[in-house]
Amino acid sequence: MSDVVAVAEHRRGELRDVSYELITAGRELADAIDGDLHLAVIGGDVDRFAETLDRPGVDTIHTVANGEEFDHNVYQSAVETLLARTEASAIVAPNSVNGLDYVPALAESYDLPLVTDAIGFEYDDGLTVTREMYGSKVETTVDVAGDRFALTIRGGEWEPAEGVGDAAVESVEVDLPESGARVKGFEEVAGGDVDISEAEVLVSVGRGIEEEENLDVVEELAETIGATLSASRPIVDNGWLPKNRQVGQSGKVVTPEVYIAVGISGAVQHVAGMKGSDTIVAINTDPNAPIFDIADYGIVGDLFDVVPALVAEFE
Ligand code: FAD
Repeated sequence: MSDVVAVAEHRRGELRDVSYELITAGRELADAIDGDLHLAVIGGDVDRFAETLDRPGVDTIHTVANGEEFDHNVYQSAVETLLARTEASAIVAPNSVNGLDYVPALAESYDLPLVTDAIGFEYDDGLTVTREMYGSKVETTVDVAGDRFALTIRGGEWEPAEGVGDAAVESVEVDLPESGARVKGFEEVAGGDVDISEAEVLVSVGRGIEEEENLDVVEELAETIGATLSASRPIVDNGWLPKNRQVGQSGKVVTPEVYIAVGISGAVQHVAGMKGSDTIVAINTDPNAPIFDIADYGIVGDLFDVVPALVAEFE
């Protein structure tokens, strides 16, 4: 029997959505290799996190109380401890800045094949992982022999686990190495108060807005409906909005309930970051804009007419 260790993620005191998606992916893997799913909750308010993450499919939740925020040493040591306790042979973690920090180190230590940024997988004698390449232009499959592997998954690609489970909760003591880097604190980048990857509704603005002064138009819509403002890359490259607002391959992956793309063409690099949105609304003058291929609702029209009309309607 081979078990799976999935590692939940939290930031600034809150669990990230991908933690629930990880349970779904981890359960699928555990079923495939005929093992248990162990969920690691490391650092921060672990008791509260464990209670929230007790969803169907999780066999055991291991809480590791060391540390507040992400800390490479704590995560690596904690997962090593769990691998020894559970005899798990597979690790699954979010494909995030944190995940990409400690998972490769673990894969190296344990000689595990590592596949990053998975968007899907199948198991039949061995694991076949789907991932994207060349700016999401190409989809590839990677065959992993055996049932020992490390995997990081992209947020928004698996359904979040719902409901209440009956996992056993165990507190784990971890011996931390004497030396090595320590996290001393957390400093937000300027304008970094907003995490677009956690927003429920996004109004996203693209080059169709033409001028920085015109951002008022979309800001008013966002304010009226209680949405967060995000953008395509040219808006960020122009310095009109900070980098943490950029959606896409070189920005953030977002999975809101509603994504309103205003004056955005729908380039593959942009779509890579928002195609997991529940409902996509696109406003564009060009009826052939690729964004309409993935939109649930499309409005062919000039944003300078359509957006104020929407604001008036919502008000
Ligand atoms: P455009 O493609 O110029 O589209 C503007 C749209 O606005 C057009 O469809 C037009 O019809 C419409 N429009 C114009 N006027 C109006 C109006 N008055 N009313 C309504 N609609 C109007 N892009 C990202 O967004 N995120 C990324 O992370 C990203 N990463 C990249 C990484 C790499 C390696 C590369 C090469 C590119 C990357 N890009 C990224 C850039 C991407 O290829 C596109 O250039 C970019 O997404 C285009 O942004 P846009 O849709 O705002 O602009």
